[in-house]
Amino acid sequence: MIIQKAGKIVEGLYALADIDLPAWLVAAPTPSLFDAGITFMGPSYLREIRQTLGDEKRLRRVFITHAHFDHAGTVPYLKRSIPGLEVAASRLAADIFKKPNAVNLIRSLSRDYEEEHKTLFGSENVFFDGLEVDRILEDGETVDLGAGWTFRVIATPGHTRDGISFYFPGIKALICGEAAGVPDRNFRIHPEFLASYRDYVASLERLAALDVEIIMLSHHYVLTGEDARGYLKKSLESTFAFSERIRQYLADSGGIQESVVQRIFKEDHQDTGAIQQAERPYLINLAAKVKAVAESR
Ligand SMILES: [Zn+2]
Repeated sequence: MIIQKAGKIVEGLYALADIDLPAWLVAAPTPSLFDAGITFMGPSYLREIRQTLGDEKRLRRVFITHAHFDHAGTVPYLKRSIPGLEVAASRLAADIFKKPNAVNLIRSLSRDYEEEHKTLFGSENVFFDGLEVDRILEDGETVDLGAGWTFRVIATPGHTRDGISFYFPGIKALICGEAAGVPDRNFRIHPEFLASYRDYVASLERLAALDVEIIMLSHHYVLTGEDARGYLKKSLESTFAFSERIRQYLADSGGIQESVVQRIFKEDHQDTGAIQQAERPYLINLAAKVKAVAESR
């Protein structure tokens, strides 16, 4: 099944508030959140955490897949609102959150959305003011949230260098950020290898070897059953096809990356209208993908 709205996924597992942005709540004995959307969503998440757990202060931990503004945006707000909330991420993500440039970038990318969604937070201080990570997650580590809610940390670099995924063997569920690409409105999968093409493929191959029944994609969709089982291999095929296309376009243009970016932007974004990402971040990411393929020769 392809799920396109927030709410209960299975008993104890919830997509919060807005399926276009990732925030997954696990109502385990140690209640935990996985990823945490963009700043403006803070009060909406808090309200839904309260509704689900009875008291938002029962939330104990937040686990972050990678240090992007649309995955970690509300964590400072949640930390301010919930005393003792523990934040866990990879070592590289923790280092990124210490860099003033990275904090400024997160702030700047969040601002457009804050302007657009002011009514969702009113006078509350939802802003991203830096983030201290309390616990470093290592590749292969197992984390136990109680009552069978155990998950494994899997290093999945390639989209970003700091990316990690979370796999719950008990319910065969995977939270993977953009490590497995982003399907558009027509469910065409767009690969997201911003940092390294080779690492992205290696990470996706690791994920494709998992036995999955539920995949919580970073944006727009949750997949279950057959749709989940077939997805990771399909995503890998889309990745190979997209890199071949980039190589072909690079050859056509005499190696000029910017022409390739413009050609793909026109074909995939402008002509189809199926990509939900705004133009500015789309173009920044597309340039990174073309560069990643050009450098992987
Ligand atoms: Zn990302």
